[in-house]
Amino acid sequence: MTAPGALNSAAGSLYVVATPIGNLDDISARALKILRDVALIAAEDTRHSQRLMQHFGIPTPLAACHEHERDEGSRFITRLLAGDDVALISDAGTPLISDPGYHLVRQARAAGINVVPVPGACALVAALSAAGLPSDRFIFEGFLPAKAVGRRARLELVKEEPRTLIFYEAPHRILECLQDMELVFGPERPALLARELTKTFETLKGLPLGELRQFVESDSNQQRGECVVLVAGWTVPESEDAVSSEAMRVLNLLLEEMPLKRAAALAAQITGERKNVLYQVALDKQKGE
Ligand code: SAM
Repeated sequence: MTAPGALNSAAGSLYVVATPIGNLDDISARALKILRDVALIAAEDTRHSQRLMQHFGIPTPLAACHEHERDEGSRFITRLLAGDDVALISDAGTPLISDPGYHLVRQARAAGINVVPVPGACALVAALSAAGLPSDRFIFEGFLPAKAVGRRARLELVKEEPRTLIFYEAPHRILECLQDMELVFGPERPALLARELTKTFETLKGLPLGELRQFVESDSNQQRGECVVLVAGWTVPESEDAVSSEAMRVLNLLLEEMPLKRAAALAAQITGERKNVLYQVALDKQKGE
């Protein structure tokens, strides 16, 4: 039994290896070396990954790692504890990012196994890096619920989120998704659709949501392939720009005593002003200082 937090030095390492999201040249030299050197590769779908291994001439055995079978991780843990190095890969991109691997990584860390990230392609980061939307702070929402009611409820929850929003979406739902975003966030909100990143038909289209929905609606080719949707964060509408002088006074006092987020929340409680508005005001004030 390993003490909590202590590394089991007799065990092998679990390498969490990113693979390409389309263009095979995006695999790193380090990833290839590790995939060759480990005793076993835990893969989301062995048949899918077999093609990648064949392409790069990697003979390492593959074994399926199904996220829904939580106990399945234990056979990899047994190999790791016996001293074998294991690599975890998913079908594309970075494992655990809307992909399997969480339970295995968690179990490995709990067993004191050295878990090593081997970074590489990730669709959300690739899209954000080229979107021209604020990237200093963002939130990743993964996949939205498939049904309209759940999807709209989820969008309502992040409607006034000031950070850039990033979503994954399946091609057969992209139009419905954009329609609901337009409905909830409004047609003017800046957005970007990143489709088929790193592949032949790569498209990055940045438009206000209403126009982006129209663009996708009028061209069925835009409803094909893999896609990431980015939406600019909420900004204080002009009419709400003027925060009452009382709220400003309370906010300024609290900002001297506590972190920004807490100060905005407390000032909102005291003055009845909206928390998001005060938070944005405080952020702007901080940037201006
Ligand atoms: N683990 C992956 C990563 O690191 O990005 C994501 C896996 S998730 C199951 C698949 C989703 O990622 C797709 O539905 C799409 O939203 C996004 N995605 C993956 N590859 C993409 C690509 N080449 N272009 C645009 N989006 C992509």
